[in-house]
Amino acid sequence: MGLQRLLFGTAVFGEGQEYRQFQYRFACVLTLFSVMTTALFILTALSGLAVLDDHYVYGGMLYCAVMMGIFVVLRVRPDRLPQITPVGVIASFLIVSVAFFHNTADEMRIIWYPLSIPGAYILAGRRVGMALAAVSVGFVLWANGQLAAPYSPSAVITTVVAILYIAAFFHAVSSKSVSFHHAMVVANRALSDLAARDPLTGLMNGRAYYDACGRVAQQARRTGTPLAMLFVDLDHFKRINDTYGHEAGDRVLKAVASCLRGGLRQSDLVGRIGGEEFSVLLPDTGSDGALSLAETLRRSIEGLCPEISDGQCLTVTASIGVAVAVAEVAPDSIVELQHRADEGMYQAKRAGRNRVSLLLDAGSPA
Ligand code: GH3
Ligand code: MG
Ligand code: MG
Repeated sequence: MGLQRLLFGTAVFGEGQEYRQFQYRFACVLTLFSVMTTALFILTALSGLAVLDDHYVYGGMLYCAVMMGIFVVLRVRPDRLPQITPVGVIASFLIVSVAFFHNTADEMRIIWYPLSIPGAYILAGRRVGMALAAVSVGFVLWANGQLAAPYSPSAVITTVVAILYIAAFFHAVSSKSVSFHHAMVVANRALSDLAARDPLTGLMNGRAYYDACGRVAQQARRTGTPLAMLFVDLDHFKRINDTYGHEAGDRVLKAVASCLRGGLRQSDLVGRIGGEEFSVLLPDTGSDGALSLAETLRRSIEGLCPEISDGQCLTVTASIGVAVAVAEVAPDSIVELQHRADEGMYQAKRAGRNRVSLLLDAGSPA
């Protein structure tokens, strides 16, 4: 955990940004890794183990400074990833080319051209990857002619083929992984939407509803606005099932659900939290507003007559409990509100059903 924080900071990537997060983390690790390997190279020269040209040693130090700068920018502004990665790709190409010209005692230095291609593809995408491959091929062909002891034509051909091979490979892989990721994001969204909906009515199910309520309550706490909850329970619903069948009951439930949805604002939440029980959360709503909306909904439900068979329709009524938190919205307000809305609904049932009953919060004026 500590190492993760050290490497990646506290960058937050939202849902659907998993690939971007992978690129960000890869960029952080790769920049540090480039600094470490270059520093190691320089150390081998300074300790006399390898013969490196001064141009490369100073260039390498500058390269390390640039890469550390990129690392810091990434840590501070993760959103700058697309702009900053091409800078890293160019810096890497330059240091590889300085080595190519000056570290002539190292016969293997040419391999850094093909080895630079994957990072460019993964971090900066196909266009930058392709551009780096093309520039590397052109550069190796041209620069080899400038060397006092050039590579043999066979070595140059092998290097060019290796660049093209790796570029073709990563071209295919990066495009596929992006499209796979996109398909996964779409499928994930569809799945979580499915998991959040009640299949019969299309309303939020209990879990999704209470999750959403938690977020609204947090917002209400921040803004100091009231919250109201309505608990809607259909009256004698069992009789409908018993008399007309379960399918008829389902039709009634669907009609009530769309009546509720249609009678609410966009910002209000409604969920089916039980068989014939619905809960409604009204942000920024006090007791007067909540009561009058509950009464409107009660009347609308009473006025419904969904068709259950040819020419036959059924009426239904609802008892609605209303609870309001007008004082400070406490952290456990949703549980508490639901509890009081429940109480209100039972009061309405006891008072004869098909009515609205309000339970004020203990700290609120009556
Ligand atoms: P009350 O007025 O006291 O609320 O009486 P009620 O009959 O509505 O209450 P009760 O809790 O006894 O019955 C609820 C019924 O809702 C029982 C169950 O068969 C029915 N139910 C629950 N889920 C569904 C469903 O998905 N479809 C249908 N058709 N009926 C359901
Ligand atoms: Mg019930
Ligand atoms: Mg009921």
